[in-house]
Amino acid sequence: MLKDIFYSIVRNKCPQCHQSNVFKTNNAFNLSKFDKMNAICDCCGLKYEKEPGYFYGAMYVSYGLMVGWFIITWAIDTFLINSETWQYLTFFIISIIVFMPLTFRISRLLWLNIFVKFDKDKININNTITKSI
Ligand SMILES: [Zn+2]
Repeated sequence: MLKDIFYSIVRNKCPQCHQSNVFKTNNAFNLSKFDKMNAICDCCGLKYEKEPGYFYGAMYVSYGLMVGWFIITWAIDTFLINSETWQYLTFFIISIIVFMPLTFRISRLLWLNIFVKFDKDKININNTITKSI
């Protein structure tokens, strides 16, 4: 199960069938398109935004990711590097700005994976329908 979630997030794949992409581009640092999502999965028909405002919940996931990033970098700085506070804060602020597109995508994909589980039976369901017609 964790392997399925990890695969979906890292490869930008539909959480239900793992066949088509959730975001239109695989490059998170393409700043003009990194936030553009497909409305539904081309393979299994899963509607990604289930209701208006569905992805507001991903903001809480993003917040959790940033708190985790803060704790990890703060511990490394405090116990290994021991830099000045202003140096650490400068590093931290620049790092969250640089990695914002990545955090945005990871939090949305994680939010989707919380509610939608991988189902092998959903793979190529549309292709099977098309072939039978
Ligand atoms: Zn799908």
